Amino acid sequence: MTNLYIFNTDFRLSDNPALFHAAENGESLVAMFIHNPKKWQRHNESDLKIAFQIETLKILSIKLAELNISLKIVNAEGINEENKKIIEFVKSKNIKEVFINKEYGINEINRDKNLEKELVNLNKKLNSFDSSVFLPESIKTQSDTFFKVFTPFSRAFRSKLLTKKIEILGFPKKQKNKIQESDEVKNISLAKERKNILKFYEAGEENALDRLDEFIAHKIVSYKEKRDFPAVDGTSSLSPYLSSGILSSRQCLFKVFEKLSEEKEGVKTWVNEIIWREFYKYILFHNQRVSKNLSFSEKYDDFPWSDNQDHFIAWSKGETGVPIIDAAMRQLNSTGWMHNRLRMIVAMYLSKNLLIDWRRGEKYFMQNLIDGDFASNNGGWQWSASTGVDAAPYFRIFNPITQSEKFDKKGDFIKKWLPEISSVNNIHDPSSDERNDIGYSNHLVDLKESRKKAIEVFSNFSK
Ligand SMILES: Cc1cc2nc3c(=O)[nH]c(=O)nc-3n(C[C@H](O)[C@H](O)[C@H](O)COP(=O)(O)OP(=O)(O)OC[C@H]3O[C@@H](n4cnc5c(N)ncnc54)[C@H](O)[C@@H]3O)c2cc1C
Repeated sequence: MTNLYIFNTDFRLSDNPALFHAAENGESLVAMFIHNPKKWQRHNESDLKIAFQIETLKILSIKLAELNISLKIVNAEGINEENKKIIEFVKSKNIKEVFINKEYGINEINRDKNLEKELVNLNKKLNSFDSSVFLPESIKTQSDTFFKVFTPFSRAFRSKLLTKKIEILGFPKKQKNKIQESDEVKNISLAKERKNILKFYEAGEENALDRLDEFIAHKIVSYKEKRDFPAVDGTSSLSPYLSSGILSSRQCLFKVFEKLSEEKEGVKTWVNEIIWREFYKYILFHNQRVSKNLSFSEKYDDFPWSDNQDHFIAWSKGETGVPIIDAAMRQLNSTGWMHNRLRMIVAMYLSKNLLIDWRRGEKYFMQNLIDGDFASNNGGWQWSASTGVDAAPYFRIFNPITQSEKFDKKGDFIKKWLPEISSVNNIHDPSSDERNDIGYSNHLVDLKESRKKAIEVFSNFSK
């Protein structure tokens, strides 16, 4: 009577519905991790994110052993081979039932449908669970369609919060029998500088929950006032844990509401961000175009994006001549993380001032972020490029210099990442003479002209 649980993107033991029910339901349990570099590469997963998951898996393997749950690691070559490996194992160990948490990408949905069919052919059952706060099918407009705009979605979400208390699951039950020794989790190779980044994010769910507690105890109340300033440590930095399912959105909401209410503005604002996260997952679930590398809005399918490779490279290296953009890109390249305000500024600059296809930026982010999350990344990029659901209107283009003056007033953030320009008079936009003196690039494009051009191109295209 052995069950099988497959790790998808839920690298935690607590509040893990599929793992919890797999453990309740049998006498012995195997947890399988599929080592699939080909799939990770195809999905542009960053080395940092994968290394972070592997570090977490190592910690999980110790806990799993204490619960008599065996860890099985199998290798697969691409997403299409995953089911083959699962079925081989199911047959060889005479597995009773298989348990998974659903993933919302189109390939993953199809993979799981096929797995279900193959298991049925063997007279076995696939049990699928959902890690979202609310099932995406359960939030609908009055006309029974899915929401495309955030505010009414969040209203519907919040009204569900009022009627349905958030509950979280505990650890899986200890198994009577352990069927085999666990496979050893092997490190993946990572360059030394990248390894150093991981020191900032301690792996494992205990660390995630500690960070969450710390944030709720000391920072959430001032979140609204501080969250927009990249030089200030005002946000939770929980995204790497949430993106790899080391922590769930449900756990976040449960823990917040255990101690605080949304009467406090900081709490309300932070809860709203968790709802944004759920919104983009919901959009991914309800709209297959998102999984197919297409803009949410069909009308942008033939948009005349620029293919200026020099501009793209300058943007990615942080050499655009706009200090806030360059500092932000260097933060990303050195730490695998970027502040939310800056993500919006650099994404808008790429897709509007440079008119470069947002998908190139989306891919670059995924390849470099430790918190790369397909749904949130895609949503954030399409919001900035005005091609997505509830996106920024195309004519409302951030001026990066004004944003810099507003959100990094004293230039502390810029000085940290671009120390070479620390001594200039106007840190937000040094004069040409100063640029020449210190060897800092001139503007890649004129900000006013490029803004005007972007509005023209979008406006002509929208007619
Ligand atoms: C162009 C662009 C790309 C992005 N790519 C990603 C990505 O790959 N992965 C990712 O997790 N977030 C992404 N975001 C959203 C956001 O920037 C990060 O979630 C946030 O900066 C993470 O920092 P934090 O954990 O301190 O967030 P906090 O401000 O403490 O927020 C708490 C949590 O809420 C969620 N959240 C916050 N803001 C958003 C948002 N705008 N959209 C969706 N969820 C949100 C995150 O899970 C975050 O950890 C992107 C935003 C933009 C504009």
